Amino acid sequence: MNVIGKVTVLPQLPEAIGRLSELAYNLYWSWTPHAQSLYQELDPEVWERFQHNPVRTLLEVPQERLTHAAANPDYLARYGRVMADFDAYMTKKDTWASRNAPGLAPVAYFSMEYGFHESLPIYSGGLGVLAGDHCKSASDLGLPFTAVGMLFHQGYFRQMFNKDGWQEEAYDELDLTTLPIRPALTPGGEEARVSVYIGSRSVHVRVWELAVGRIRVLLLDANVPENSEDDRKLTARLYGGNQELRVQQYVLLGVAGIRALRLLNVPAGVYHMNEGHAALLGLERVREYVGQGLDFRAALEAVASSTLFTTHTPVAAGNDAFAYDLMDRHLSGWPALLGTGRDDLYALARHEQFWDGHWVPTFSMTVFALNMSRAANGVSELHGEVSRDMWKFLYEGAEAQEVPIGHVTNGAHNLTFTSQAMRDLLGTVLPQGWTERLEDEAMWEAVEELSDTQLSDVQLEMKREMVTFVRRSLKAQMIRNGASAADVAATDTVLSENALTIGFARRFATYKRATLLFRDKARLSRIVNDPDRPVQFVFAGKAHPADNPGKAFIQEIYRVSQEPEFRGRVVILENYDMSVARQLVQGVDIWLNNPRRPLEASGTSGMKASFNGSPNFSILDGWWREGYDGTNGWPIGEEREYSDLGVQDDADAYSLYSTLESEIVPLYYGSGGQRGGWARTVRRAIRTVSPRFSMQRQVIDYVRKYYLPLTARGAEVTADGGRRAREIASWKTWVRQQWPYTTLQASANLPTTAHPGQRVEVRASVNPAGIRPEELQVEAVLKRGDHVTRVPLTHEEGGRFTAQVPLDDSGLYSIGVRMVPEIEGLSNPLEAGLIKWA
Ligand SMILES: *Cc1c(COP(=O)(O)O)cnc(C)c1O
Repeated sequence: MNVIGKVTVLPQLPEAIGRLSELAYNLYWSWTPHAQSLYQELDPEVWERFQHNPVRTLLEVPQERLTHAAANPDYLARYGRVMADFDAYMTKKDTWASRNAPGLAPVAYFSMEYGFHESLPIYSGGLGVLAGDHCKSASDLGLPFTAVGMLFHQGYFRQMFNKDGWQEEAYDELDLTTLPIRPALTPGGEEARVSVYIGSRSVHVRVWELAVGRIRVLLLDANVPENSEDDRKLTARLYGGNQELRVQQYVLLGVAGIRALRLLNVPAGVYHMNEGHAALLGLERVREYVGQGLDFRAALEAVASSTLFTTHTPVAAGNDAFAYDLMDRHLSGWPALLGTGRDDLYALARHEQFWDGHWVPTFSMTVFALNMSRAANGVSELHGEVSRDMWKFLYEGAEAQEVPIGHVTNGAHNLTFTSQAMRDLLGTVLPQGWTERLEDEAMWEAVEELSDTQLSDVQLEMKREMVTFVRRSLKAQMIRNGASAADVAATDTVLSENALTIGFARRFATYKRATLLFRDKARLSRIVNDPDRPVQFVFAGKAHPADNPGKAFIQEIYRVSQEPEFRGRVVILENYDMSVARQLVQGVDIWLNNPRRPLEASGTSGMKASFNGSPNFSILDGWWREGYDGTNGWPIGEEREYSDLGVQDDADAYSLYSTLESEIVPLYYGSGGQRGGWARTVRRAIRTVSPRFSMQRQVIDYVRKYYLPLTARGAEVTADGGRRAREIASWKTWVRQQWPYTTLQASANLPTTAHPGQRVEVRASVNPAGIRPEELQVEAVLKRGDHVTRVPLTHEEGGRFTAQVPLDDSGLYSIGVRMVPEIEGLSNPLEAGLIKWA
């Protein structure tokens, strides 16, 4: 047929259920199973076919189903309850933020990807889900908060396995009219458009908005007719394309993102960059201050004073860095706009790297983000440490412990991942309103009141659902790949609801070692095929399209799953997404994670499993190093790293098998029908992990540790037309000029041995050049093992400084003396980037 036009005929919602449409456009439903049921029941087939999408369901459902539902008293009653809950949620005045952070400035949160729900495929994995969960909890807690991201109209990719178990990727063009988004409107009521220069051309961006409970997410979309064909593809795929495309996407996220906020009059006082992708927002914000009359350096101070950067990547090579000439092509106009030179601008991002046999300067998004912020954090305690070590070269002369990168350990949005059955069960022992104070550890003690059978009943129900889901998914895959009738039929019997079931699902980045389990297949076979106490495994996960080693992992698991001894006991599912994630974390008995320590910055999927009573079994890396308490799951390996990766893999695999055989399997199956030990572990997992690794705890930590201090700091530095910003900038310029002319000499009167508590005299003599002596912090630095203490010396006169330095503990001390320029109001002593050791 020759199509001359298209028209969608919308079903008419009967008055009695008229607000289903309004609710469909608020992702409140994504963590509210009762709300989802309202749409699912209208047309279960459409619901499944279109990734559980309420907007799509309303578009597709035949009119008579709507009429029918509107006449069903039971449906109406549930509709009424959901709507009442929704209204209460949306209008609640007494929130955590209103009580605990009334002065908090509005937060603008930038992330390249967001995982809110499977029907909005603009995420690739944990980073995106974390960002989506962060938004959901910001809404739950009542924060003033707006998020900015990208609307990838082909999403990430849909994953299929071919007959040989090799990953294939499909990209579906999203039909935007079926997504819960609407064009963002300017205060004047126009559809919001912004444009940005990339290189010498102007790229136009349409702004969509997505409601996530009480907060809004702005999504940028370059797929508009005003743009060239190539530019329209800038927002086609998440993490698709080459470096050239990546940089342009970063310009859009950062620069167009800020312009969108301004156009829509969205207030923002604190800026949070989730990963280095967002760092170019600093360019636009500096440009704004330069436009208001600050010079480049002062503008930089103003911008950084209110900005937080969260890093997620614990390997240097994983951090985006680009060749200078590539940046030149896309950022050519910026130095002039910012009133600076190209070298001065790039110096803020400079990272010398060894590329193709040469040392070359690169533009590192992480370095730029660190320089554009006055607060930075990793995502677990260990990752904070790893990050400080990784980036300490930027703080010449500093000890790793002093590098100003802290940590906030990740969490997950409990309600998004907890099954309705488990929520109902928890509701029988937790107090009213429990979903609003998930971070309250004492509240969760009530989980101890749940009986063994109550828990095992819910878990069996969820496991049955998962087994059905797995069989359906495998069957569809078999049919698509033209499998024999016998193989198709065999999918009806894979997995047993009575066997101990272990889940492993995440991105197939190689450091996550998805195939570690198969290091000793004979031993694994004995575990899996134990006739009395069988064990089975469910895998899922996507490899990045360019990651062939990751795809080879998938294929290896696929092949194992086809071998006679593992058939039906080891399965790997296609197209891991948030829906598969929920099925698995809710349905398996145990969650497995065996990354190569310390590369799992945090990990979050194990938290989601624990919320559902599936204890975590993992390497002591990321969050689990903090979460494991000896009773709530199991560790793999030790708290250490190996220099030989093969040895590390062997040791970890050995530990995995042994713990499985000697602890987990016996505990799960119990003896003489007694499984009390298992239920105890399940209760411990739920009660300890749910509060401590709730996204509410995480967001509260961000508010207290970073958002509130940055609110104050940003206000102070930018007040009065940026008076303080100018002062700090010109002070830094001055001390940097003077620094080469300063001198420092030190001596200490040290006995060969001392006793704990003894003091030693340390003296220094300083030529401060043009710097005021009171602006020099002269300090003794004492190092004992990893332990570093600093003791300030007092200025006596004429550039002489002295202190009586206590040696508190026994041990071998190294003592040094250094000076650092410091004035009040800096975010940390290393801010000026100058340290001189005697
Ligand atoms: C939680 C989640 C992840 C993160 O998994 P990790 O094990 O923490 O890497 C990835 N993808 C999806 C869909 C998730 O829901």
